[in-house]
Amino acid sequence: MAYDVVVIGSGPGGYVCAIKAAQLGLKVAVIEKRATYGGTCLNVGCIPSKALLHASEMFQQVAHGVDAFGVEVAAPTLNLGKMMAHKDATVKSNVDGVAFLFKKNKIDGIIGTGKIVSVGKVSVTGEDGKVQELETKNIVIATGSDVAGIPGVNVEIDEKIIVSSTGAIALDKVPQNLVVVGGGVIGLELGSVWMRLGARVTVIEYLDKLLGGMDADVSKQFQRMMAKQGMDIRTDAKVTGVEKTATGAKVTYEPVKGGDAQTIEADVVLISTGRKPYTAGLGLEDAGVALDNRGRVEIDGGFKTNVAGIYAIGDVVKGPMLAHKAEDEGVALAEILAGQHGHVNYEVIPGVVYTQPEVASVGKTEEELKAAGVAYKVGKFPFTANGRARAMLATDGFVKILADQKTDRVLGGHIIGFGAGEMIHEIAVLMEFGGSSEDLGRTCHAHPTMSEAVKEAALATFAKPIHM
Ligand code: FAD
Repeated sequence: MAYDVVVIGSGPGGYVCAIKAAQLGLKVAVIEKRATYGGTCLNVGCIPSKALLHASEMFQQVAHGVDAFGVEVAAPTLNLGKMMAHKDATVKSNVDGVAFLFKKNKIDGIIGTGKIVSVGKVSVTGEDGKVQELETKNIVIATGSDVAGIPGVNVEIDEKIIVSSTGAIALDKVPQNLVVVGGGVIGLELGSVWMRLGARVTVIEYLDKLLGGMDADVSKQFQRMMAKQGMDIRTDAKVTGVEKTATGAKVTYEPVKGGDAQTIEADVVLISTGRKPYTAGLGLEDAGVALDNRGRVEIDGGFKTNVAGIYAIGDVVKGPMLAHKAEDEGVALAEILAGQHGHVNYEVIPGVVYTQPEVASVGKTEEELKAAGVAYKVGKFPFTANGRARAMLATDGFVKILADQKTDRVLGGHIIGFGAGEMIHEIAVLMEFGGSSEDLGRTCHAHPTMSEAVKEAALATFAKPIHM
């Protein structure tokens, strides 16, 4: 059987590309080496982490958050097994959903390890070692990413005591002391899960702040909030060793600017220092597919590698390692392969940190605008002045809108607060349409909603907010 498209990897990049290509009339196969489809995101990433974030948030709400509303309940007890079963069931329903969509769209899903044999030829090695060869007009590399480890430090991840995110979503008891190496999104989300369930959590971060790439106003306030919730945050700290001990593990670190090394004991250490593109065993060298200096598959503006007929999308190429970025690239590439004009607007890709409060961001940060010499205006509005936030006792945080000084076009939006991950999309849509902050500030928003703070922040860029 000859295919139009063979996709290697069934994560959000690969499976979405396959579905879109099939919808556009192409004959498609997807190869996946895991036992189930859906990639990192559905199996061990976005979906299970959000199931645990939501469940642990409910636990914490019942334990500490409902009394103030006049809801008096006895202290909750944790049934971690049941919480994990909820997570597993959530994963199962999602990965089963992808298998269903493959069937519905007549896509051949093949479990096995894919390797590019030559242009137009991909081999698949099954669990039983049997090899089959597929012929195809186009090959899509969507093999995603893997845990990066700590640069210069030899760490043996056993997924029990020294864990990556994969082990951290499957612990069988709440650690007393959890040390998180790396204060980025994944470390802070999973650190929050275990902190809510009772662990003492220490985060060790190399940079001088958490969430390095975020708008500085946002990351500053976020760090204060995490510290208030009980997270022990040590920034400017370089981890030099992670070793197992008789009782757990110890982490050694020293100040980045120089000084004495310190050691901290933990029963679990989460290594969350980033992810790297995954290309092992794909046969890229033999096929002549070029990588860039960070090991990512090099592509042009149309996802084409240097070899005709071979394309790449998602975490394995440049750009933010986010599921929705991979999905949008999957759709755009499928359209290109079907003769249409697929396109991704990299200026408008939202990023969300699913802690409580959530942090959400789209477009430029104030620091980026300054560095680029762009004249801008800022509008900010705090949730303390929002009626709905007061009613929900969710007044932590603010909305910040950045707009071009001359044209008023919105260049960036940053929200820290309850529901930020949902609210960010109205700013994203506005930016996609090239809208101005006045457009946003004059759009009628339902009352009382948290989103009114977005409108007020927009008003603050060109006039005055009403409620402040
Ligand atoms: P992947 O999802 O990594 O899928 C690649 C697939 O390719 C894998 O299943 C792999 O087994 C398969 N594969 C690799 N090599 C081969 C081969 N040779 N043959 C066959 N199959 C192969 N992003 C968000 O946007 N929101 C979130 O909330 C979020 N949370 C996350 C939480 C965690 C704990 C982690 C680890 C990641 C999270 N991410 C999140 C990131 C997100 O998971 C990735 O950006 C996304 O999965 C990338 O999609 P992809 O299709 O490029 O690759």
